[in-house]
Amino acid sequence: MTDSRRDFLKFIVVGSMAAGCPVDVSLLAAEDSPAPQVDGDHFEICHQVRDGHTFAKPPISKRYDVVIVGGGIGGLSAAYFLRAHDFLLLEKEAHWGGNATMEEYQGQPFCTGSAFDYTGTASDHLARELGLAPIPINCADPTIVNGKWVADTWGAGLDELPYSASVRESFKKFRKDMLVLANDKNQEQFDNTPLSKYLKSYAPEVKLWWDTYGPSNYGATSDDTSTMVALDELKDMAGEAEHDSRITLPGGNATLAQKLAQSLQVKSVDRMIAGATIVSVDPQKTEVHITYFQNNALHTVAAKFVVMATPKFITSRIVSDLSDDQTEAMRSFRYCPYLVINMIYDKPVYNRAYDTWCPGTTFCDVVVADWVMQTQPGYKQKNNILTFYTPVSELHRDKLLQISGCQKIAQNVLHDFQKLLPEFSPDPIEVQVYRRGHPMFLSAPGIFTKVMPAANQPLERVVFANTDSVGPESLVYAAVEASRRAADWTEKRLAGSTPAAARAAAGFSK
Ligand SMILES: Cc1cc2nc3c(=O)[nH]c(=O)nc-3n(C[C@H](O)[C@H](O)[C@H](O)COP(=O)(O)OP(=O)(O)OC[C@H]3O[C@@H](n4cnc5c(N)ncnc54)[C@H](O)[C@@H]3O)c2cc1C
Repeated sequence: MTDSRRDFLKFIVVGSMAAGCPVDVSLLAAEDSPAPQVDGDHFEICHQVRDGHTFAKPPISKRYDVVIVGGGIGGLSAAYFLRAHDFLLLEKEAHWGGNATMEEYQGQPFCTGSAFDYTGTASDHLARELGLAPIPINCADPTIVNGKWVADTWGAGLDELPYSASVRESFKKFRKDMLVLANDKNQEQFDNTPLSKYLKSYAPEVKLWWDTYGPSNYGATSDDTSTMVALDELKDMAGEAEHDSRITLPGGNATLAQKLAQSLQVKSVDRMIAGATIVSVDPQKTEVHITYFQNNALHTVAAKFVVMATPKFITSRIVSDLSDDQTEAMRSFRYCPYLVINMIYDKPVYNRAYDTWCPGTTFCDVVVADWVMQTQPGYKQKNNILTFYTPVSELHRDKLLQISGCQKIAQNVLHDFQKLLPEFSPDPIEVQVYRRGHPMFLSAPGIFTKVMPAANQPLERVVFANTDSVGPESLVYAAVEASRRAADWTEKRLAGSTPAAARAAAGFSK
């Protein structure tokens, strides 16, 4: 693409830099860029929370049975499960959905985050209960490497990879050896070892593939990946299962978030406050005080119980009374910065597969936004929207602070994509960049078996939800499972169970 063509391209940069501690607004204002649109966030308040600022706590204005903090899929589903009770749901952003939000171009939805789910999961059941009908993806993931498109990478594709015969053999040996480990009954033993330890025995191209796959799916390259998590992924791609169990909806998992919000709004619109940043959650003897910032003012409400559906790095800074051990566990999660870049084409450029892996490029994979719609009778594609998943190293989080940094990454993504295959050379008519500073926890060694159980133990009146309470990866079904457990705990406590009895009944591990 020529420089003059690039100047004409419309870049739109939106999104929160974190569900927590994002952008310095003065940095954004200083940027000189072609008509960017920046979605403002309540990051000033979050920065102050992070930096230990003490907020005034106004008198209690209202009392509830339960307050739910955070309106991602986790908080929304907790509110849905507890909808028969006297609840209040509070969310920092002006919109619901957290990491599961979508945008639209000329009426065509596309993901800015969470894309697919698996059949039979808690979130799939919830979607169907709400009247949604997730559509099977039914397409094993291809890889594009060295100028070649290879179908079904970890199936028949291993014989087609454009590498030397010895490298192809190394891929096959890795698959065979790792599937033996993946079928071992005691998977927890593999949680403490980084995947890179196993990868040492294979060709560097195998490591490159996993260093592409991991960051997109669970935030981590192989040095930081729990082997247990990678084995589970490999089993899905190359195990005995005959069918692709992935499903999705037009717009991805955001459709579930939207549906949850709409369903709650029918009867409980006055129990849902968006644009409310919680600054403290203070457990007392008989209730919990929750202070939040909304419309330039602080407010305090009280609740018998609180469900914290925020990520742990935020939760640990808001909830008082956490033990040192629990605080340490919550703060040992690491989160991957992430750009999701949507390229909108007014002609077909790529429609061959749902999710395609591209080792050696700035991005990890590219998803065809309307893939499942294409199987629907009578559907006609208007624009070809491609979603590029572009996680960034934690070391480079600061690049996301500036619009020019995001644009630069988007330009590199486009450049790399156009070089992959000759048919990818057309320019998009618009590029939309969605940035998030800390959206996805890394499935690092020990996170699932050691950190999560220590981080997610309920207090007497506060229970912890969010996808980082269940894991082992950041997944919508884990967010829904965490909320189901938190709702069960809350109902037991409301019905008079002791903390220990409620913990046991809800299925907390210790
Ligand atoms: C790029 C990307 C792609 C993904 N792809 C998939 C996928 O294909 N399939 C899948 O299953 N999962 C995927 N995931 C993971 C999935 O999106 C998450 O696991 C899930 O959305 C988490 O939901 P949650 O409610 O637990 O957390 P979040 O979505 O993080 O929600 C937390 C909410 O709390 C709010 N909040 C934070 N601080 C405060 C505060 N102080 N006061 C009030 N509110 C606050 C935030 O604004 C946010 O709305 C993806 C994630 C990303 C980032």
